[in-house]
Amino acid sequence: MVAALSRHLDALLACRACPNVVGLPVTGAVASARVMLVGQAPGPHEADSRRPFAYTAGKRLFTWFRDRLDVSEEQFRERVYIGAVIRCFPGRDPKAGGDRVPDAEEIARCGEHLDREIRLLKPELVIAVGTLASTQLLGISQLKDAVGRMHRAKRAGRSFDVVVLPHPSGRSTWLNKPENAALLDQSLQLIAAHPAWTSVM
Ligand code: SF4
Repeated sequence: MVAALSRHLDALLACRACPNVVGLPVTGAVASARVMLVGQAPGPHEADSRRPFAYTAGKRLFTWFRDRLDVSEEQFRERVYIGAVIRCFPGRDPKAGGDRVPDAEEIARCGEHLDREIRLLKPELVIAVGTLASTQLLGISQLKDAVGRMHRAKRAGRSFDVVVLPHPSGRSTWLNKPENAALLDQSLQLIAAHPAWTSVM
Protein backbone atom coordinates (compact mmCIF):
# COMPACT_ATOMS: atom_id res chain seq x y z
CA MET A 1 0.00 0.00 0.00
CA VAL A 2 2.82 2.39 0.86
CA ALA A 3 4.37 1.83 -2.58
CA ALA A 4 1.00 2.32 -4.26
CA LEU A 5 0.41 5.52 -2.30
CA SER A 6 3.87 6.73 -3.20
CA ARG A 7 3.14 6.13 -6.90
CA HIS A 8 -0.15 7.96 -6.49
CA LEU A 9 1.57 10.96 -4.88
CA ASP A 10 4.16 11.07 -7.67
CA ALA A 11 1.33 11.20 -10.22
CA LEU A 12 -0.66 13.76 -8.24
CA LEU A 13 2.24 16.14 -7.61
CA ALA A 14 3.29 15.94 -11.26
CA CYS A 15 -0.24 16.60 -12.54
CA ARG A 16 -0.61 19.66 -14.77
CA ALA A 17 -3.89 18.66 -16.42
CA CYS A 18 -5.87 21.86 -15.75
CA PRO A 19 -4.84 24.85 -17.86
CA ASN A 20 -6.66 27.49 -15.79
CA VAL A 21 -5.35 26.74 -12.30
CA VAL A 22 -2.53 28.90 -10.95
CA GLY A 23 -0.65 26.86 -8.37
CA LEU A 24 0.95 23.44 -8.28
CA PRO A 25 -0.77 20.46 -6.58
CA VAL A 26 -0.98 20.51 -2.80
CA THR A 27 -1.87 17.61 -0.54
CA GLY A 28 -1.31 16.41 3.01
CA ALA A 29 -0.50 12.73 2.69
CA VAL A 30 -0.56 10.29 5.59
CA ALA A 31 0.01 6.61 4.80
CA SER A 32 -2.60 4.26 6.26
CA ALA A 33 -4.83 7.10 7.44
CA ARG A 34 -8.28 5.95 8.54
CA VAL A 35 -9.60 9.51 8.49
CA MET A 36 -9.51 11.82 5.48
CA LEU A 37 -10.35 15.49 5.21
CA VAL A 38 -11.61 16.85 1.89
CA GLY A 39 -11.49 20.63 1.52
CA GLN A 40 -12.35 22.81 -1.47
CA ALA A 41 -9.03 23.85 -3.01
CA PRO A 42 -5.77 25.41 -1.85
CA GLY A 43 -5.45 29.18 -1.66
CA PRO A 44 -2.43 31.24 -2.72
CA HIS A 45 -0.55 30.73 0.55
CA GLU A 46 -1.06 26.98 0.38
CA ALA A 47 0.14 27.04 -3.22
CA ASP A 48 3.30 28.89 -2.15
CA SER A 49 4.08 26.60 0.77
CA ARG A 50 2.69 23.42 -0.89
CA ARG A 51 0.95 22.73 2.44
CA PRO A 52 -2.84 22.49 2.87
CA PHE A 53 -4.64 24.84 5.28
CA ALA A 54 -1.43 26.80 5.84
CA TYR A 55 -2.96 30.24 6.35
CA THR A 56 -5.92 31.91 8.08
CA ALA A 57 -8.59 29.32 7.21
CA GLY A 58 -6.27 26.62 8.50
CA LYS A 59 -5.68 28.55 11.72
CA ARG A 60 -9.42 28.66 12.33
CA LEU A 61 -9.90 25.01 11.39
CA PHE A 62 -7.11 23.77 13.64
CA THR A 63 -8.36 26.00 16.47
CA TRP A 64 -11.70 24.15 16.35
CA PHE A 65 -9.90 20.83 16.80
CA ARG A 66 -7.48 22.12 19.43
CA ASP A 67 -10.04 23.91 21.60
CA ARG A 68 -12.90 21.44 21.36
CA LEU A 69 -11.28 18.05 20.68
CA ASP A 70 -7.90 18.66 22.32
CA VAL A 71 -6.04 17.73 19.12
CA SER A 72 -3.15 19.93 18.04
CA GLU A 73 -2.45 20.96 14.46
CA GLU A 74 0.65 18.73 14.49
CA GLN A 75 -1.34 15.71 15.67
CA PHE A 76 -4.00 16.41 13.06
CA ARG A 77 -1.50 16.69 10.20
CA GLU A 78 0.30 13.51 11.31
CA ARG A 79 -2.86 11.41 11.45
CA VAL A 80 -5.42 12.76 8.97
CA TYR A 81 -4.92 12.61 5.21
CA ILE A 82 -5.75 16.08 3.87
CA GLY A 83 -7.14 16.16 0.35
CA ALA A 84 -9.46 18.51 -1.50
CA VAL A 85 -11.98 18.65 -4.32
CA ILE A 86 -9.22 20.10 -6.47
CA ARG A 87 -5.54 20.21 -5.46
CA CYS A 88 -4.33 23.34 -7.22
CA PHE A 89 -5.05 26.99 -6.43
CA PRO A 90 -7.77 27.97 -8.93
CA GLY A 91 -6.74 31.65 -8.96
CA ARG A 92 -8.73 34.71 -7.95
CA ASP A 93 -12.27 35.47 -9.09
CA PRO A 94 -12.06 39.06 -10.34
CA LYS A 95 -15.85 39.57 -10.29
CA ALA A 96 -16.88 37.97 -6.99
CA GLY A 97 -13.60 38.59 -5.16
CA GLY A 98 -11.91 35.79 -3.26
CA ASP A 99 -10.72 32.56 -4.83
CA ARG A 100 -12.32 31.26 -8.01
CA VAL A 101 -14.66 28.30 -7.49
CA PRO A 102 -13.34 25.30 -9.44
CA ASP A 103 -15.32 24.48 -12.58
CA ALA A 104 -16.99 21.18 -13.36
CA GLU A 105 -14.17 19.92 -15.60
CA GLU A 106 -11.54 20.63 -12.96
CA ILE A 107 -13.65 18.91 -10.33
CA ALA A 108 -14.16 15.84 -12.49
CA ARG A 109 -10.49 15.66 -13.49
CA CYS A 110 -9.17 16.09 -9.97
CA GLY A 111 -11.84 13.74 -8.64
CA GLU A 112 -9.82 10.92 -10.20
CA HIS A 113 -7.02 11.66 -7.73
CA LEU A 114 -9.50 11.63 -4.86
CA ASP A 115 -11.01 8.36 -6.08
CA ARG A 116 -7.59 6.73 -6.17
CA GLU A 117 -6.91 7.89 -2.61
CA ILE A 118 -10.22 6.48 -1.41
CA ARG A 119 -9.45 3.13 -3.06
CA LEU A 120 -5.94 3.07 -1.55
CA LEU A 121 -6.68 4.34 1.97
CA LYS A 122 -10.18 2.90 2.43
CA PRO A 123 -11.06 5.68 4.91
CA GLU A 124 -13.75 4.95 7.48
CA LEU A 125 -14.45 8.61 8.16
CA VAL A 126 -14.24 11.56 5.76
CA ILE A 127 -14.47 15.13 7.06
CA ALA A 128 -15.89 17.29 4.28
CA VAL A 129 -15.04 20.97 4.70
CA GLY A 130 -17.32 23.45 2.96
CA THR A 131 -20.21 23.31 0.55
CA LEU A 132 -18.22 22.18 -2.48
CA ALA A 133 -16.85 19.14 -0.67
CA SER A 134 -20.29 18.39 0.78
CA THR A 135 -21.85 18.62 -2.67
CA GLN A 136 -19.23 16.36 -4.23
CA LEU A 137 -19.35 13.68 -1.55
CA LEU A 138 -23.02 13.78 -0.55
CA GLY A 139 -24.91 15.79 -3.13
CA ILE A 140 -25.92 18.22 -0.34
CA SER A 141 -25.18 21.86 -1.15
CA GLN A 142 -26.88 23.53 1.83
CA LEU A 143 -24.71 23.60 4.94
CA LYS A 144 -27.75 23.63 7.22
CA ASP A 145 -28.74 20.23 5.78
CA ALA A 146 -25.23 18.81 5.96
CA VAL A 147 -23.51 20.06 9.14
CA GLY A 148 -24.30 18.45 12.49
CA ARG A 149 -25.26 15.01 11.14
CA MET A 150 -23.54 11.74 10.35
CA HIS A 151 -23.86 10.83 6.68
CA ARG A 152 -22.96 7.73 4.72
CA ALA A 153 -21.40 8.05 1.27
CA LYS A 154 -20.32 5.69 -1.48
CA ARG A 155 -17.51 6.59 -3.84
CA ALA A 156 -14.81 4.78 -5.78
CA GLY A 157 -16.35 1.46 -4.76
CA ARG A 158 -16.06 2.21 -1.03
CA SER A 159 -18.61 3.19 1.63
CA PHE A 160 -17.64 5.50 4.48
CA ASP A 161 -19.07 7.92 7.03
CA VAL A 162 -19.00 11.64 6.29
CA VAL A 163 -19.20 14.55 8.71
CA VAL A 164 -19.43 18.04 7.21
CA LEU A 165 -17.85 21.20 8.63
CA PRO A 166 -18.44 24.72 7.33
CA HIS A 167 -15.52 26.25 5.50
CA PRO A 168 -13.32 28.05 8.03
CA SER A 169 -12.63 30.94 5.66
CA GLY A 170 -12.93 34.37 7.26
CA ARG A 171 -15.18 35.37 4.34
CA SER A 172 -17.91 33.02 5.51
CA THR A 173 -20.56 34.50 7.79
CA TRP A 174 -22.47 31.24 8.19
CA LEU A 175 -21.17 30.67 11.69
CA ASN A 176 -22.38 34.05 12.91
CA LYS A 177 -25.81 32.55 13.58
CA PRO A 178 -25.96 30.72 16.94
CA GLU A 179 -27.96 27.82 15.46
CA ASN A 180 -25.21 27.26 12.89
CA ALA A 181 -22.49 27.42 15.53
CA ALA A 182 -24.45 24.71 17.38
CA LEU A 183 -24.39 22.56 14.23
CA LEU A 184 -20.60 22.95 14.06
CA ASP A 185 -20.39 21.74 17.66
CA GLN A 186 -22.51 18.73 16.78
CA SER A 187 -20.25 17.86 13.83
CA LEU A 188 -17.16 18.09 16.03
CA GLN A 189 -18.79 15.84 18.63
CA LEU A 190 -19.67 13.30 15.94
CA ILE A 191 -16.04 13.29 14.79
CA ALA A 192 -14.77 12.94 18.37
CA ALA A 193 -16.99 9.91 18.98
CA HIS A 194 -16.26 8.14 15.68
CA PRO A 195 -14.31 4.87 16.09
CA ALA A 196 -11.88 5.77 13.28
CA TRP A 197 -11.10 9.06 15.04
CA THR A 198 -10.71 7.57 18.52
CA SER A 199 -8.43 4.88 17.12
CA VAL A 200 -5.91 7.44 15.83
CA MET A 201 -6.21 10.31 18.33
S1 SF4 B 1 -6.45 20.61 -10.08
FE1 SF4 B 1 -6.07 18.40 -9.89
S2 SF4 B 1 -6.39 17.56 -11.97
FE2 SF4 B 1 -6.11 19.79 -12.16
S3 SF4 B 1 -3.91 20.08 -12.50
FE3 SF4 B 1 -4.25 20.25 -10.27
S4 SF4 B 1 -3.89 18.18 -9.51
FE4 SF4 B 1 -4.20 18.00 -11.72
